[in-house]
Amino acid sequence: MAQTRTFSLRSLRGQLTLWFSGLSLLTLLCVGLYVGRLATQQMAASAGAAVHAMALTAADLLGAGLREREQDIILLSQAPHFTRGDLTHPDLLPSLLRRRALSEEFAWLGVVDPQGKVIQAVDGLLQGQSVAQRPWFIAARSGVYAGDVHEALLLEKMLPKPPDGEPLRFIDFAAPIRDYSGELVGVVGAHIHWRWVTQTVQTAFDQSARDSGAEILITNAQGIVLYPQKLAHQVQLPAELHTDRNQRTTEVRWDDGLDYLTSMVAVDSRTSRNLGWSIVVRQPLHQALEPAHAMRNRLLALGFLAALAFGAVALRLALSFSRPIEQLAEAAHRIENGDSQADFPEKGQLIEVDQLCQSLRSMTRTLLAHERELEAVNQSLEALVQQRTEALEEANRALEHLATHDPLTGVYNRRRFDDKLRECFDAARRTSQGFAVLLLDADHFKKVNDTYGHPTGDTVLQELARLLTGTIRSVDFVARYGGEEFVILLPHTPDGASAMAVAEKARWAIAQAEFPGPGHITVSVGISVWQADDPGAAATIERADAALYQAKAAGRNRVVLG
Ligand code: GH3
Ligand code: MG
Ligand code: MG
Repeated sequence: MAQTRTFSLRSLRGQLTLWFSGLSLLTLLCVGLYVGRLATQQMAASAGAAVHAMALTAADLLGAGLREREQDIILLSQAPHFTRGDLTHPDLLPSLLRRRALSEEFAWLGVVDPQGKVIQAVDGLLQGQSVAQRPWFIAARSGVYAGDVHEALLLEKMLPKPPDGEPLRFIDFAAPIRDYSGELVGVVGAHIHWRWVTQTVQTAFDQSARDSGAEILITNAQGIVLYPQKLAHQVQLPAELHTDRNQRTTEVRWDDGLDYLTSMVAVDSRTSRNLGWSIVVRQPLHQALEPAHAMRNRLLALGFLAALAFGAVALRLALSFSRPIEQLAEAAHRIENGDSQADFPEKGQLIEVDQLCQSLRSMTRTLLAHERELEAVNQSLEALVQQRTEALEEANRALEHLATHDPLTGVYNRRRFDDKLRECFDAARRTSQGFAVLLLDADHFKKVNDTYGHPTGDTVLQELARLLTGTIRSVDFVARYGGEEFVILLPHTPDGASAMAVAEKARWAIAQAEFPGPGHITVSVGISVWQADDPGAAATIERADAALYQAKAAGRNRVVLG
């Protein structure tokens, strides 16, 4: 069976495929977007927690480190050989050197007398010089001091520069040295490399955090960025970080116009003097959410692929559902076009379609049987009509013959002759082509009847008609004019001589013929020829009749031209 191959969206197959794949695409898109959104939220929360944990760790480490450094200085200042008051004592320098050897962060360690003169210092740096104007010295005269970061002033030329090109910077710690009576005998001071601070902070900051775009910043009490160097004095802290210096992670827009997951934790150093530093960790939001976005995109791509797969499966399913229906439609179409051999689909998957096929099959059988019956009835009706038509034509022909012929002799009758005479007369008037009329009457016919009986008279009349018909041309016209009188019309015969010849031939043939009963009979003939001044057809008849009368009067068995 021929299949309808064109794929139309209005077909059952098209509709099924469209709805299946459309719904699956919609479902998977919704799931993809919802799961993507959930993942984004969770990712933001976990990235925020990681950022905050980093900030907390860095702040704790730095706070503890600063506290330890201050304790180091305090312990040094309280060592017995310091408190004895002899700042030139040879034990002091080894003590300072030991302390520096323990950790490399100490750039400088030294003891200063109450007037600000450096008495002893590691590597002899600044020894003999005055630090009386330095804030750490001034502050340490009255108590323990922890100082903010500053550039190296006096030591710059004496110490090697940091390898990364950063300026040489320190934070200072200092403590007063008092003797047993509490008298100030000097100050012990230390410059700690800023590098130590940054390295401490960086230990809280692993490689994966760096790869995810996170940055760690140290800010001072004024909100100025101290670290990293590339951002120092370049970046403004967002306003909300100024107001609350202990922030769990929030999404904050920085002055570069980007949104960052930002966490700020104050460094609690618990030193004698709070430095007011804070650790800020920030991570670009788009980088923090990148895995979530990648997952959402993968889900969406997966959704599209799944929709395609669903569409293909739907098309396959739709095909198996719609094929029997299409075959059914095709079969119905073929039956509509008169193909009685059209096949219906065989047993399929769908009960309803099978039932429909069954019903259509039996309906088609019934319809075809009715059609055949109807055809047979039609054919017999047509034959009957044909038969009746022929009979009617036959009857019409018989009627026509009856109306125009004489029943006894079979030649034309008087009525038909009158019509023919009128036609000839009209034609002669139009064309001046003349005609002749011969009027024949059997002589003494009454005697035939009287002698041999009327039936013999009839037979003689029939024989007479036959003889007359045999003597004329095909264009000539014989009719029984009445009783034992006949008339012959000769078209295209304008002259009396031709008419005379025909009449004479007929008279002679009759006179020679043998008739049953009387044996021989004769006829008298009156002739007339059309004349142009004849007022009507009757005039020719009247002249022929007069000529016949003359023939009778002249002794019968003769021809007279009128
Ligand atoms: P005439 O020579 O003067 O013509 O004499 P006739 O005897 O023929 O005279 P008429 O014309 O008077 O007579 C005609 C006869 O023809 C009268 C009638 O009985 C007979 N006749 C007319 N029609 C028929 C017919 O159909 N059959 C028979 N058998 N005879 C007929
Ligand atoms: Mg007569
Ligand atoms: Mg007669």
